[in-house]
Amino acid sequence: MMAQVRVNRDINSRAGAHPDRVFQGHSPAQDIAIETRNLGRMFGDVQAVVDLNLSVPAGSIFGLIGPNGAGKTTTIKMLLGLIQPTAGGASVLGRDILTDSLWIRSRVGYVMETQAMYGYLTVGETLSFCRRLYPRWNDELVRGYCKSFGLPLERKVGKLSKGMKTQLALILALGPDPDLLILDEPTSGLDPVRRHEFLTTVIGEIAGTGKTVFLSSHQLSEVERVCDHIGIINRGTLILSGSLDQIKAQEKKVRIITQGALPEEIMRMPQVRKVEPEGAGYLISISGAVDAVIDRLRALPHSFLETIDMNLEEIFMDYVGAPDSCKTPREGE
Ligand code: ATP
Repeated sequence: MMAQVRVNRDINSRAGAHPDRVFQGHSPAQDIAIETRNLGRMFGDVQAVVDLNLSVPAGSIFGLIGPNGAGKTTTIKMLLGLIQPTAGGASVLGRDILTDSLWIRSRVGYVMETQAMYGYLTVGETLSFCRRLYPRWNDELVRGYCKSFGLPLERKVGKLSKGMKTQLALILALGPDPDLLILDEPTSGLDPVRRHEFLTTVIGEIAGTGKTVFLSSHQLSEVERVCDHIGIINRGTLILSGSLDQIKAQEKKVRIITQGALPEEIMRMPQVRKVEPEGAGYLISISGAVDAVIDRLRALPHSFLETIDMNLEEIFMDYVGAPDSCKTPREGE
């Protein structure tokens, strides 16, 4: 039995959009930092991003996750105006990515997977150079991060290790004190200690100030720890998105041993995503209004029933690791 995957577009903020914050360039009432509308990008025959409808609440820490080649970097590049969409559109901090990409790049701190920096400048020279470009540059913040990362100010950028370059790129993104940070794989290249430090200190601090962070990552346990909203993208298509708490509440499995076969009417319930035979019983994946299904299952004659919560990695594997036929997206409730 194959049912379809639900796309959860109901973005209720757990951390909450911050009603008191004011983005420069858009109204304080606006509580969406990033919104894409059927955003798409083709590279020749390759559909890198397909009909992407994403909504990132202001003040949230949003993790975009997906396997290699899913379309994460392409999405981020379009949001920053580094490449053009071939379909749809999007707004960042209330500005259109097609017409206002310069403004967006001046107001958003971003770190790309491969960050271009001048190798012949020292770390200190790079920071001084960037400080002159941004009126809102926060020297105190930058000094603090340099100290906590232990970055050697006198070393040439070209001689830094990969992880040190990532650290410098992060500091450069944070220096202008942006309202929105867009980070493509921010912790790749960082050792476990620095990664932990980055996530707890940097992201934690940013979250405390009400800024929005949009990051892509493969590190699901880290995303689960720091993000309050997530989007799962696979083959260019968004298959699940929303508040992490809400998603976890709406994604369950039930292990059941029934007396007799599972009734067809239960397998046909829209919340039932997948039914796998398991030993003498079944393992049933449920999405959405899970209680309705669980109540029906409880009412069946059974010798065993267990409801299983899923962590982000399990949810991710259930959607992305599932056979192709399980992955057709459909609109949310
Ligand atoms: P990863 O996690 O491996 O970094 P990703 O989710 O960031 O992957 P993208 O880099 O966005 O994925 O790539 C999405 C798809 O678009 C892939 O099939 C990739 O090969 C293709 N693609 C990306 N950039 C280009 C390009 N410049 N020319 C042709 N194809 C591209």
